[in-house]
Amino acid sequence: MFDKAEFVISNTDYRKCPKPDRHEFAFIGRSNVGKSSLINMLTARKSLAKTSASPGKTQLINHFLIDESWYLVDLPGYGYAKTSKKNRSAWELMIQDYLINRENLQIVFVLIDSRLDPQRIDLEFIQWLGESNIPFALIFTKADKQSLNKGHQSIAKFKKTMKKTWEELPMMFFTSSATGFGKEEVSEYISHILES
Ligand code: GDP
Repeated sequence: MFDKAEFVISNTDYRKCPKPDRHEFAFIGRSNVGKSSLINMLTARKSLAKTSASPGKTQLINHFLIDESWYLVDLPGYGYAKTSKKNRSAWELMIQDYLINRENLQIVFVLIDSRLDPQRIDLEFIQWLGESNIPFALIFTKADKQSLNKGHQSIAKFKKTMKKTWEELPMMFFTSSATGFGKEEVSEYISHILES
C-alpha cells in the first residue's frame, strides 16, 4: 500500500527532527517485539528498518519519508535488560520529550507480542501515554507464531487488564510480518488519517 520509503535522519533530540510540516506516525515497543519487521512489511521494503540481531542497539529517533507525503518514525525499543539505569532514564527522557512535543504526531503505534500475557512494562508505558494525552493504537505482533484462537485470547486478556483503568480502549490491530496478516488494516488506518 505504501510504496516509496526514504530514510531522512536519525536523532537523539526531537528539536533536531525534520520540520513538522506533514503528518507523522511513530512505532514503539519492547526490543524484539517485531517492530522492524512490521515497518518493513508496511513499507514493502526488506530492510528499511534493520531487523535487530542485537536488541536495544537502535537508540535513535529514526525518520523515514513515505511516498513523499508522511513521516514514519521508528523509535528505540524499550525494556532492554542490559541498559543501565542511567541509560534507561536518558532513553525515557528522549522518547517522552519527542512524544509530548512533536506537534505533527498523529498516532503512536505501541507493539505488543501477541504470545505473552500483559507485560507490566507495556502497561506502564501505555498508562503514561494516556496520562500525557498522547494518542496511540496497539498492534499485537507475531500472529503466525500461535493459533489465531490463542492470539485472540491473549488480546482479550490485554483488553480485560486495560479495562481496569481505562474507560475507552484504543484501536487494536493483530498482525504477522511473516504472513502479511493485518497489513491492510494498519495501512488503511494510516491512510484514513492522512486523508481526513
Ligand atoms: P524489533 O527488535 O522489535 O525490531 O524486532 P524484529 O523485527 O527485529 O524481530 C525480532 C525477531 O522476531 C526476528 O527474528 C524476526 O524475524 C522475528 N519476527 C518479527 N515479526 C515476526 C512475525 O510476525 N512472525 C514471526 N514468525 N517472526 C517474527
